[in-house]
Amino acid sequence: MEEIKGLRKYELPPLPYKIDALEPYISKDIVDVHYNGHHKGYVNTANTLIDRLNGIINEEVKSYDIHGVLRNLTFNINGDKLHTLYWKDMAPEGKGGDKPGGKLGDLIEQQYGSYEKFKKIFTEAANSNPGTGWAVLTYDKENSNLNVMTVENHFMNHLAEMPIVLILDEFEHAYYLQYKNKRADYVGAWWNIVNWDEANKKLDGLLE
Ligand code: MN
Repeated sequence: MEEIKGLRKYELPPLPYKIDALEPYISKDIVDVHYNGHHKGYVNTANTLIDRLNGIINEEVKSYDIHGVLRNLTFNINGDKLHTLYWKDMAPEGKGGDKPGGKLGDLIEQQYGSYEKFKKIFTEAANSNPGTGWAVLTYDKENSNLNVMTVENHFMNHLAEMPIVLILDEFEHAYYLQYKNKRADYVGAWWNIVNWDEANKKLDGLLE
């Protein structure tokens, strides 16, 4: 095995379906710009920053702003990870949408009363999220709670110990080409392509 010198680079994970697979709910053009532009950009920038950080660690770089480097690195690494979750949490029509079954379906009914009530709360959370961010469903193992939460920007320090089960990207780049300023229409359309099998798989992994 090759000797590791410094922190390792990130790689853009493959899109789990064809670029037009989410139509008509999310257009091919949006997925193209979002994946090949934004997501790839986060990975590339993270790698540039890792080069710089490795230079700092190896004392090749003498003058630097550590706060700036690490803040940007946090933003870009999280950008990669959040988008990787987001792509997997959607599936083409026919495979996605409908209601969650399995343990996730049971827990949602137990804690939110019904899937419809959960959907209403998540939608309201998403629609009330100011500016750029994410709506997420997290699982807190300590008390077995499924928490609907909103995340600002890419920074999610407040989600400590609460892995994401389901995620919705609310940055303008996720919907503007198709939905313009009608973000609520994008949120409404997204429910048709939610990949509940993937969300259930994540929850199962956390229940083990
Ligand atoms: Mn995005």
